[in-house]
Amino acid sequence: MSQPMMKPADIHIEALRIAGERVYRDEVIEVTYPYTGEVIATVPKATLEDVRRAYRIARDYKPTLTRYERYKILMRAGEIIASRLDEISRTITMESGLCRKDSLYEVGRASDVLLFAANQALVDDGQVFSCDLTHHGKSRKVYTMREPLLGVITAITPFNHPLNQVIHKVAPSIATNNRMVLKPSEKTPLTAFILADILYEAGLPPQMLSVITGDPRVIADEMLTHPDVDLVTFTGGVAIGKYIAGKATYKRQILELGGNDPIIVMEDADIEEAATLAASGSYKNSGQRCTAIKRMLVHEAVADRFVELLVQKTRALKYGDPMDKSVDMGTVIDEAAAIQFERVVNEAIAGGAKLMCGNVRRGALYSPTVLDRVDPEMTVAKQETFGPVSPVIRFKDIDDAIRISNGTAYGLSSAVCTNRLDYITKFIRELNVGSVNVREVPGYRLELTPFGGIKDSGLGYKEGVLEAMKSFTNSKTYSLPW
Ligand code: NAD
Repeated sequence: MSQPMMKPADIHIEALRIAGERVYRDEVIEVTYPYTGEVIATVPKATLEDVRRAYRIARDYKPTLTRYERYKILMRAGEIIASRLDEISRTITMESGLCRKDSLYEVGRASDVLLFAANQALVDDGQVFSCDLTHHGKSRKVYTMREPLLGVITAITPFNHPLNQVIHKVAPSIATNNRMVLKPSEKTPLTAFILADILYEAGLPPQMLSVITGDPRVIADEMLTHPDVDLVTFTGGVAIGKYIAGKATYKRQILELGGNDPIIVMEDADIEEAATLAASGSYKNSGQRCTAIKRMLVHEAVADRFVELLVQKTRALKYGDPMDKSVDMGTVIDEAAAIQFERVVNEAIAGGAKLMCGNVRRGALYSPTVLDRVDPEMTVAKQETFGPVSPVIRFKDIDDAIRISNGTAYGLSSAVCTNRLDYITKFIRELNVGSVNVREVPGYRLELTPFGGIKDSGLGYKEGVLEAMKSFTNSKTYSLPW
């Protein structure tokens, strides 16, 4: 653990961005730096009238940006972000407690999202079908084209990637000429405002993006049920995701929910590589990724060696002051979350699991923690632990591994460590998940490629720039005599 290197700056008073207009409110939400608990900023609590005004402006505006103009705005925003890398990374660290290594990485990812969205804006994915294909065919052609939604998109995002979760919704919305009202997490709202300002500066018509913050109990239902909303895109936990599924009736819903992703290590695996992947997949972003490794399923023949290497790598990790650029892991989002990890880890130890290292807490700082001989039915393995905890579960054979892996409510992603093709093909067929990464962490993907889960992790509609652009558009079919 290292000691604090800097004190937070003065309290920053943030405003809503209603179609670019800065709106302040007396009622505010405090944003704290999780490492010290100090208040670093306030954001307004939007009123219902603020929310309705944001939708009214968005609905009344009809975007006319050409593909080239959208491309230019997204590319320009990427350039501005790159030029402000350090400052944005600091803001992410201050509001989330994520270490600078993580927040710098996150800003880099945002540039990738913008690059892909900009390039996809140039691509017309319309299709053409000749109609003289059968004996009763004729000389005609059927065409498809994608159009922006008639109504407005509601976007609601979680705390864990204050920039990346937001940009994965905003960039595809701009690329498809849509209008969006965004509500970032009230725990980490600051970076979303920076992003909005950058986009306005890059030339985005402000009516195409509003950012509001507030008490979800006051404003969330309006965002889900407003008649001008055509689509709700949500990333967050299962409970709220299912609430949205029930509330936002007859609106398109993209729900990216929790995960409980395994790394599965077979007896033939390169154990050094598997332990390296396991540690990075479990602790990156303080373990707060939907695709973090939350269970380690290890063949009993190699489990002792795997645990030994995992403990070594876990102990070698430097955690502490998030602003210290040499630190590998900062805090989790708040003290309440850290106390919850401590509780489920202690429950597992009381139930017979063996604590190999960690389980030390100071405020919101929770050490990387390894538990061996965990029973798959223990809370630490059955439920999503959104923090740096590595529960190792030993199994006998591949059927056992697949049964345990599929034995939770979640189905987001997975990692598989083996070189045997028979194992690989069986895992790809039989794991009930959205992604299978062989010899990679479950979180591996391009910002472009389809990503998303099934079961309680989501409805199977994917995100990633390409899929988001599809779901944010209506496909219109037309036919011409030809
Ligand atoms: P959360 O579900 O607590 O909050 C997410 C958002 O929902 C916040 O903006 C919050 O203000 C808002 N919200 C609260 N009440 C609401 C309501 N009644 N109606 C609508 N919105 C409401 O999630 P969190 O704690 O911020 O994030 C952690 C969770 O997100 C984890 O479960 C994680 O796995 C999940 N997550 C999933 C993905 C994915 O792509 N599948 C990615 C990242 C995080």
